Amino acid sequence: MTGVSDAGIRKEGINKMRDMYYDVVIAGCGVAGLYTALRLGRDKKILMLSKEDLESCDSMLAQGGICVLHDENDYDSYFEDTMRAGHYENRKESVDLMIRGSRAIIDDLLSLGVRFAKNPDGTLAYTREGAHSRPRICFHEDITGKEITTTLLSHVKIDECDHHGIYCNDRYSRRE
Ligand SMILES: Cc1cc2nc3c(=O)[nH]c(=O)nc-3n(C[C@H](O)[C@H](O)[C@H](O)COP(=O)(O)OP(=O)(O)OC[C@H]3O[C@@H](n4cnc5c(N)ncnc54)[C@H](O)[C@@H]3O)c2cc1C
Repeated sequence: MTGVSDAGIRKEGINKMRDMYYDVVIAGCGVAGLYTALRLGRDKKILMLSKEDLESCDSMLAQGGICVLHDENDYDSYFEDTMRAGHYENRKESVDLMIRGSRAIIDDLLSLGVRFAKNPDGTLAYTREGAHSRPRICFHEDITGKEITTTLLSHVKIDECDHHGIYCNDRYSRRE
């Protein structure tokens, strides 16, 4: 027992935050938040918030992999598989954006150091799973989410700011 109540710790955290100034606040330290932080301008001072510890997010649990348009001939099939999996309620423009942007995202993740499985000739190995009718999934063993998330985390310095899962991202410490 330290004699400091939860309410006291919370008040101390709130008081500390009153003196913090940031350009951007990102709620969430999963792949979405981390990737956003890394792709915002380097001049931005960013605060990242996490509800729990950094390991406790769905991104760390994702096993299978991440899909990519690796062949233009696969576009129609990829689009249809995605729409069918979403019971055709998906916004078509968003699905198109996701598919068209997938290759650049995978290339970006590779450049950040994500170790997707490769064939002996060095090309990416693709597997098939879930709603996908063709092999178009990049993966790392059966811990793809952990591989991506820990790699992104390694590029975003996380400093714990208080006792309630509030973390700040110092942009200037990002590795090149
Ligand atoms: C078992 C499992 C397997 C999966 N397999 C795959 C797969 O193979 N391929 C695939 O593409 N997807 C898969 N998914 C889905 C994928 O993991 C998620 O779509 C993805 O990780 C979502 O990322 P995110 O950053 O949006 O959310 P998360 O990774 O869940 O991160 C959410 C973040 O928000 C924070 N947060 C939540 N509430 C608050 C709050 N009130 N205030 C502040 N912070 C808050 C959390 O602490 C956390 O840091 C799988 C999911 C699970 C659970």
